[in-house]
Amino acid sequence: MSWHVPEQLAVAYVDGAVQGARAASVEAHILTCPDCRSRVSAEAPGDRLADIWSGVVDEVDAPRRSWGERVLGAIGLPETDARLVAAAPTLRLSWLSSLTAVMVFAAWASNSTDRGIPLFLILAPVVPVLAVAGAYGPRVDPTYEISVASPYPTLRLVLLRSATVVAASGVLAVVASAFVPNGRVAAAWLLPCLALVSLTLLLARWVALPVAAFAVAATYALPLLVALVDGREVSSALLSPAAQWTAAAVALAALTVMTADPHLRAAMRRN
Ligand SMILES: [Zn+2]
Repeated sequence: MSWHVPEQLAVAYVDGAVQGARAASVEAHILTCPDCRSRVSAEAPGDRLADIWSGVVDEVDAPRRSWGERVLGAIGLPETDARLVAAAPTLRLSWLSSLTAVMVFAAWASNSTDRGIPLFLILAPVVPVLAVAGAYGPRVDPTYEISVASPYPTLRLVLLRSATVVAASGVLAVVASAFVPNGRVAAAWLLPCLALVSLTLLLARWVALPVAAFAVAATYALPLLVALVDGREVSSALLSPAAQWTAAAVALAALTVMTADPHLRAAMRRN
């Protein structure tokens, strides 16, 4: 081997001042010549090598983005938000499949039995509330400890996750509604659902989200289920304009109180 990398060239190469064919010939040479390889690597600053290496490790170790993260990213959520929101337990298969089972059952019941229609009207608005129960909290969430300890605002996470799981479970309920024989019934769960979800989010300012969700779901569904088992007429009450207007008023009031809250506004403004 007649040519070796001179000291000056080694220094220039490490500084990034050598480009093109000369850089390629240095690289080709140091692959086969241990002396020049050690000369060139001796010129490379240690901290820069460490930076490059840690960059490589980060890239290789970076977790794959989940489908949820990609969907949330596509609708414009920043990467940090998307990762934390997509970690919501509700968005895991176990939760989604149980919520799907409830909706399939409700849609089937509405086609099959006399009490199926009221049963659908009781269960459909509760499904998104139960989805919210699994969105965030100490019992349900493996990222809870991290998110409580991190500077990321909890309120923002709760709201972003709730909006996401309500959207996901709302899609389930809308699909199930398509199989309900009566069009009026198929739409009548929407306002009660909005009322229950917004009440849950309002309550979540004082109690843990799962507690708020189960309390709201139980307060709505249990008396109605008892009445239904008693053989009383539930559908006409739920379908009445009075019930629908009440639901709309409750939803509007809860959302108004929430959006007037300066803490919430500050949490949602976070770039
Ligand atoms: Zn050499």
